[in-house]
Amino acid sequence: MDAVTIPREKLLATLKAALPDGILFSAKDDIERYTRDWSGDHFGMPLAVARPRSVDEVSQLMRCCSTNNIPVVPQGGLTGLVGAAVAAPGGGEVVISLERLNKLRSISAIDFAMVVEAGCILEEAKRHAEAEDCILPITFGAQGSCRVGGNVATNAGGFNVLRYGMTRDLVLGLEVVLADGRVWNGLKLLRKDNRGYDLKQLFIGSEGTLGIVTAVSLKLFPKPTQVETALVGLRSVEDAMALYARARRECSDLLTAFELILRGGIDIALGARPGLRDPLSEVCPVYVLIEASAGGRVDLRAILQDFLISADDLMIDGVVAASRAQGDQLWLLRELMVEAQGRGGRYLRTDVSVPISMLAGFVGDTLAALEKSHPHALAVTYGHVGDGNIHLNVVPPVGMEADAIETLFHETEEVIFDVVDRYGGSLSAEHGIGKVKQEAFLKRIDEVSLDVASRIKDALDPTGIMSRGRIFLPRAHSKEVGER
Ligand SMILES: Cc1cc2nc3c(=O)[nH]c(=O)nc-3n(C[C@H](O)[C@H](O)[C@H](O)COP(=O)(O)OP(=O)(O)OC[C@H]3O[C@@H](n4cnc5c(N)ncnc54)[C@H](O)[C@@H]3O)c2cc1C
Repeated sequence: MDAVTIPREKLLATLKAALPDGILFSAKDDIERYTRDWSGDHFGMPLAVARPRSVDEVSQLMRCCSTNNIPVVPQGGLTGLVGAAVAAPGGGEVVISLERLNKLRSISAIDFAMVVEAGCILEEAKRHAEAEDCILPITFGAQGSCRVGGNVATNAGGFNVLRYGMTRDLVLGLEVVLADGRVWNGLKLLRKDNRGYDLKQLFIGSEGTLGIVTAVSLKLFPKPTQVETALVGLRSVEDAMALYARARRECSDLLTAFELILRGGIDIALGARPGLRDPLSEVCPVYVLIEASAGGRVDLRAILQDFLISADDLMIDGVVAASRAQGDQLWLLRELMVEAQGRGGRYLRTDVSVPISMLAGFVGDTLAALEKSHPHALAVTYGHVGDGNIHLNVVPPVGMEADAIETLFHETEEVIFDVVDRYGGSLSAEHGIGKVKQEAFLKRIDEVSLDVASRIKDALDPTGIMSRGRIFLPRAHSKEVGER
C-alpha cells in the first residue's frame, strides 16, 4: 500500500465511526453523479460524498471533519460554472451534498417571506411561493437544477435583478453550520434589524469557503397579474442602452428584464431548433428582450406599447407578444442561444460587469480587441444589461486541438479582462471566482482587501478545511490528506 492510501482509508473509517448510518457514500457508482458539474468541464474525485438528512447531521459531520482536519466542499445543484463545487481531483475532499435538506419550513404571505432548506431546488422554492400567490424572483436558465443554498453561496443574479436585486438583496436570514460544527441560527423574518454586524452577508457569495448554509429565509413579492414581453431590433448597443434608460422612466419602473443579444446569438438560437422563425421581419445587429410585470389596476400592455411607439427613433423593428405562449417563444430564443453557443464543445465563459453607462463602450472596445487579437474565434455576446452585466463568451474555431483551445481561452480571457480593468469593472458579476477565475482575481485584488478577507477566513475556518483552494489559495497550514 502506498503512503496516500492508508490515511484515506483511515479517514473514511473515522468518518464512518462518527456518523449515523446512511450518510456517507464512497463506492464508485454511488458517488459518480457528484463528480462532474453541469458544464462537464469540471471533474473531481471525492474521498466520499456525505448526504446528511438534518442540520444536526451536518453539524456532526463538520465536527468530525474539523477535528480530523478533513477538507470538505459543499455541493448544491452543480450548476456553478467556476469549478468550485466538485471535489479536487486527488480524492482528498468530502463532498457535502445538501440535496436531502430540501423542505419548505414555513411560508407567510403576510410577511412576504419563506424559510426553505438549502437543498431545495430553486424551481421548487418558486413553486412554493406561487402557491401563496407570491413570487420568489430569482430567475435564470439553471433554476430547474440549482439549489437555494447554492444560490446564496454564489449570490446568484439572473434576469430579474434590475427590479428585485441579487440573491443578497432577497435574503432575510440564514442558518449556517460553521467549520467547527456549531450551528449559527441567523434565520429571521425581520425587514429591519440593526443589532450590530449583519453576519449573514459574510456567507452570501462566499462560495462554500466560510460555512455550510442549511436554511435560508427569503423575501417574496406579490405575484404579478400582468406580464408583457417584447423583442426589439436596434442598430447598436448604444441605442439599446438609450432605450433602457428611457424604458425605466417611461414604463413606471415596471421592467423586470432587459436582455441584450447580438445578432450572432439569434442566429445560434435559430440554428439550434429547425423550424423556429425569426420573430422580426428585419435582420438587426442588436436585439433586446424586454419584460415588464405589474399587479393591480395598471394597463401594462398599453404602457409598454405606448413606450415602444415613442421610442421609434431608436428601433428598427419590434414585436410585443400577444399571449404568454408567444412571450415564452421569445424567451426560448434566449435559452436556446445559451444552450447551443458552444456547438456541443468547450467555450470560454465570462460574466463581467461595468457601470451601466459604460456598457456600450465596453462591448465595442472588447469586440474590437478580440477581433484584432483572435480573428478566428467566435465571440458570443449577450447579457443582463440593465445590471451592466455582459456575458462575452469565446467559441473556438471548429477542429481546433485541445492544447490550442486552452491557449485561446487563456489569451482571450486576458484580452477581455484588460478591457474590464480599463472600465473599472468586475471580472465576475455572477458566477463567482471558484478555481477558474482565481488566478485573474488574485492578480487584481488589492492588499487591504486580501488582508481583511484572509482574517475573516481565518476566524471562521481556522484549520482551512472549507472549500480549500477556492477563491483564495490554500493557506500554508492547510494540510493535504496524506500529509498527516
Ligand atoms: C444554464 C445556466 C444558466 C445560468 N445563469 C445564471 C444567471 O443568470 N445568473 C447567475 O448568477 N448564475 C447563473 N448560472 C450559474 C449557477 O446556476 C448559479 O451560480 C447557481 O446559484 C449555483 O447553484 P448550485 O446549487 O448549482 O450550486 P453549486 O454549483 O453546486 O455550487 C456553487 C458554489 O456554492 C457552494 N455551495 C453550494 N451549496 C452550498 C451550501 N449549502 N452552503 C455553502 N456553500 C454552498 C459550492 O461549494 C460552490 O462553491 C447559470 C448556470 C447555468 C448552467
